[in-house]
Amino acid sequence: MSRSIELGAGGKGVSGSGARGPGEARVSGTIALHGTRDPARRSGPLVVPLVQSTSWAHSAVGRCDGPTYARVGNPTVDELERVLGALEDAPPAACFASGLAAETALFLALLRAGDHAVVGEAIYGGTVRLFRQVLGPLGIGATFVDTSDPGQVAAAINPRTKLVFIETPANPTLRLTDIAAIARIARFARVPLAVDNTFLTAVIQRPLDLGADISVYSTTKHIDGHSSALGGAIVTRDEPLLERIRFVRKATGNIQAPFNAFLTTRGIKTLPLRIRAQSEAALGVARALADDDRVERVHYPGLPGFPQAALAAKQHAGGLHGGVVTFEPRGGAEAGRALLDGLALCTLAEHVGSVETLITHPATMTHADVPVDQRLRVGITDGLVRLSVGLEDPAQIIADLDRGLDAAAAVAASAEKGAAACAPTN
Ligand SMILES: *Cc1c(COP(=O)(O)O)cnc(C)c1O
Repeated sequence: MSRSIELGAGGKGVSGSGARGPGEARVSGTIALHGTRDPARRSGPLVVPLVQSTSWAHSAVGRCDGPTYARVGNPTVDELERVLGALEDAPPAACFASGLAAETALFLALLRAGDHAVVGEAIYGGTVRLFRQVLGPLGIGATFVDTSDPGQVAAAINPRTKLVFIETPANPTLRLTDIAAIARIARFARVPLAVDNTFLTAVIQRPLDLGADISVYSTTKHIDGHSSALGGAIVTRDEPLLERIRFVRKATGNIQAPFNAFLTTRGIKTLPLRIRAQSEAALGVARALADDDRVERVHYPGLPGFPQAALAAKQHAGGLHGGVVTFEPRGGAEAGRALLDGLALCTLAEHVGSVETLITHPATMTHADVPVDQRLRVGITDGLVRLSVGLEDPAQIIADLDRGLDAAAAVAASAEKGAAACAPTN
């Protein structure tokens, strides 16, 4: 496996290497730490300064050489944008107040009334809600398809389609979509392809190198990684599109706050380390769950029995598959509830990708606004739980799940007994 460390030329924002094989691990620790800063620089602060000013002085009437107003740009946000862009060999990203603010700006930049988007059916619940409840009434149509089958994407594209939007691994079922295959279809149809890369980040998956046009992030998750700062980002090598997205950001006012960018530049320094540790721990947890009789099913792309193991190996770099594991205890919704209530270390929260282990019940939390038929069709059953593995001792995470599974098994057993008692006895 070839590994390289690259550092962009000072301030240019593009470190300028060509496409590389998706399976090749790239140690991006240096970029995560230094961004595009010239490593030979000998002066200046080590930490990105927090610039908490809304406005800048103009040197003369009609002349302002630097930033003007914080809704347009801010030096702290600029630094985060340089790092995020450099991680994907792209110009500086555009950063937003949240992941959904980033998506909103992308959609407003590309779609207008009468236009149409092809969207993965197993995506973040907030993205579904944005299409169905905000963009739909504005006359922007969307067709939700199973993007793990590229044929369904090709069939859904029509002359009004202006965007294909996918997420892989899908949240929370971890079903994978072949980015390169969808990119070929989108390119043939001359429709831009955007990939929500929040779950794996550029450390594991590089959508632009696989042929996608746009990477979308909720930086709130792994990139900040400390449950401290809401944020979002768009990364693309398409400069006119980037300019349009920045214009929409200025016009709608959804740029990231400088303090959030300050916290996120601090979090991103350890992103490659955290993702590696969380992926390795997640694999251990997934193996333990897969071997456990109290568990009905486990989804994790690194498990040998994962239905798309070959695609996972091809598309994910460094043999890593991220920190999220989803599983279903035996006994359905009631057992799932007992499991969640029986945990002490794993914290019930609507979040992923942080340093602490978090557990979510998608049916009532993240995906509560997704129509029930769409939810069940993509495998989000009432008993499914999503675990985002943190940096605790993996043995303690497994021990905590063991306690939760005991609680789930007790509920499942008493339900079975109840059913037996009600059954005809002859
Ligand atoms: C959280 C999340 C979003 C939305 O991001 P916010 O920062 O919460 O607005 C989008 N996509 C995925 C995959 C997410 O997990």
